[in-house]
Amino acid sequence: MNFDLTPEQKMIYEYGNSLAKQYDRKYWLACAEKKQFPQEMYQKVAEDGFVGMMVPEAYGGAGQGMTEMHLFLEGLSNNGIPLLSLVVGATMSVGFIAKYGTEEQKRRYLPDACKGKIRFCFAITEPTAGTNTIQITSIAKKKGDRYSLSGQKVFISDADGSDYALVVTRTIPHTEVKKKTDGFTLFILDLKKKGVQKTLIPVSITMPETQWQLFFDDVDLGPEDVVGEVDKGFGILFGSLNPERILVGAICCGLGRYALNKAVEYASERRVFNNVPIGSYQGLQHPLAASKTEIEMASLMTLKAAWVFDQGREAGEFSNMAKLAAADSAIRAVDAALQCFGGNGFTKEYGIFDLYPLVRLLKTAPLNREMILNYIGEHVMGLPRSY
Ligand SMILES: Cc1cc2nc3c(=O)[nH]c(=O)nc-3n(C[C@H](O)[C@H](O)[C@H](O)COP(=O)(O)OP(=O)(O)OC[C@H]3O[C@@H](n4cnc5c(N)ncnc54)[C@H](O)[C@@H]3O)c2cc1C
Repeated sequence: MNFDLTPEQKMIYEYGNSLAKQYDRKYWLACAEKKQFPQEMYQKVAEDGFVGMMVPEAYGGAGQGMTEMHLFLEGLSNNGIPLLSLVVGATMSVGFIAKYGTEEQKRRYLPDACKGKIRFCFAITEPTAGTNTIQITSIAKKKGDRYSLSGQKVFISDADGSDYALVVTRTIPHTEVKKKTDGFTLFILDLKKKGVQKTLIPVSITMPETQWQLFFDDVDLGPEDVVGEVDKGFGILFGSLNPERILVGAICCGLGRYALNKAVEYASERRVFNNVPIGSYQGLQHPLAASKTEIEMASLMTLKAAWVFDQGREAGEFSNMAKLAAADSAIRAVDAALQCFGGNGFTKEYGIFDLYPLVRLLKTAPLNREMILNYIGEHVMGLPRSY
């Protein structure tokens, strides 16, 4: 067993440190405040080959695996720059097309996506079905040799800036299937098509990506837009949900580490009693030390999940555990850091409190903590289904 990174992996992990010299957390926060996509940074990341990290070289990508994508995103987040659009866009949608798309789809979308010329969002959540994906009601009905898509999606990140959405829809209603996972199809949807409308959902989180509700009314789709097999999309869908959990875990670990590093810096300088740094008080030091331990343990688990995924093995067990551990430990790390900063922690200048809503979001989304515990209880430990 070897825990060391290869020189190339080390370079990928440290890329965030050099990117942050040009585009640092202050730049990211300025974009977040304006609700403006960090376009210049994204373009630079694309030019440096990281948007197409998991796309084969033949289609303009870097041909790397989940381990490298994980290292890259954790490295960015270590610097306080969590680019969530690289999860839903670059990995879940673009990486998904690279894996399951037709040759024509790969040639048409991947090179431009890798160059940052086009962006994708990922649309699965619906207002009524919520966590229960089986019950989604958006439907692409057969119309001759084409499809007509109707329904709605909610909380779709970056739908406004994206050119395309990878949409999870039903092609057979859930009330008409023998097996509840049958009747799902994934489509590439051009968001400029007639019949697509969107409304902004304002959220109380400091992040540059905006959230949208999408409405589909008789939107024309064709067989050329189908990714994978018609009616059999559910199986491959899970191929994109484990990567999402792994990468959200990586982002949480990076942000937790960023918060702790800032707290150590501050607590080593700040003196209020007896001319000693506040970092020498055990009331502050122990929560930081405990959080550091939790973050590093969660980071190991996310790396393991990525490695298992790259081996082509079933990664559900480790991906779910990684996301659970990373999200919980990031919340505790930000909280411990916030305590060190006292009143300054709540100021825009120090930017620590701004981390909190984001890491807290990642406990609930993309998959809430309870569903992850359900998965571990049922599928890993063999307990009876609880819901
Ligand atoms: C900022 C933001 C960005 C997002 N981006 C995207 C995106 O890009 N694409 C996309 O498709 N979706 C996106 N989402 C949606 C997100 O994935 C969902 O909000 C999340 O999965 C929870 O679903 P829900 O809101 O419908 O909660 P509900 O399904 O209503 O669940 C509410 C709560 O009930 C509990 N719960 C539910 N089921 C169970 C159960 N079986 N057992 C125990 N407890 C349970 C959980 O605690 C859960 O948090 C985003 C959401 C937000 C807020």
